[in-house]
Amino acid sequence: MSFRAFRILVLLGLLALAAGVTWWEGAAVTSWKRPLEIVVYPVKGDGSEAVQRYVDGLTAERFREIGVFLREQSERYRIEKIAPVTVALGKPVRKLPPPRPEGRHSALDAVLWSLKLRYYAFKATPFFDSLGTVRLFVVYREGEEGKALEHSLGLRKGLLGVVHAYAAPKQDAQNNVVIAHELLHTLGATDKYDGAGMPVRPEGLGDPDRDPPYPQQTAEIMAGRVARSPTEAAIPDSLAACVVGYKTAFEIKW
Ligand SMILES: [Zn+2]
Repeated sequence: MSFRAFRILVLLGLLALAAGVTWWEGAAVTSWKRPLEIVVYPVKGDGSEAVQRYVDGLTAERFREIGVFLREQSERYRIEKIAPVTVALGKPVRKLPPPRPEGRHSALDAVLWSLKLRYYAFKATPFFDSLGTVRLFVVYREGEEGKALEHSLGLRKGLLGVVHAYAAPKQDAQNNVVIAHELLHTLGATDKYDGAGMPVRPEGLGDPDRDPPYPQQTAEIMAGRVARSPTEAAIPDSLAACVVGYKTAFEIKW
């Protein structure tokens, strides 16, 4: 065998291995038979002192309610209890994740970006300890009043998410709503809001059986908003005002 053929063979072998590991990770987390470990890696999104102080003061306790939320919600669907879900706090990451392609972009741009993100995660986190765990990079910024942060996202392949959040203790509860939403994307859940940001009926409503349907009292976590009327929706204050709806439950194999 020529050296060139050998090199190609090794490369193909590595690609097959990577694909196999990705498949195994995805299947393992949605079996719900083994504990699901989520690791939050805080990223300082700007050099401000407020962000510095906030990130340095973070503890895993701040994210505990995410695990509690999943467990409680799973009880509405599963006869067998799911294994515990824990949220650990990883070491702060210095580098920012690669920026997501904005506006019009090709499918290739999207693929390249997702590879860049996987490479970023590979460099920023321990390899073996991260196998089978969901890694969420939470980029904290001071934020300006009325100026929206970048869009957060969760990727199924590689069990990765990037969450843009506000570095303020009074935002903790709402940050946890966004983190839980992106976490569920990594487990296979799809968005349940329309182009205008309104919850899709019926699967995006907290209680699809409510009669009359509006106003709703809770938000379906993948819709992200409490529908007050067919045209008005409010951001929930915390995970206490959120539920996992039937379609999301199906998608994440509950
Ligand atoms: Zn989403």
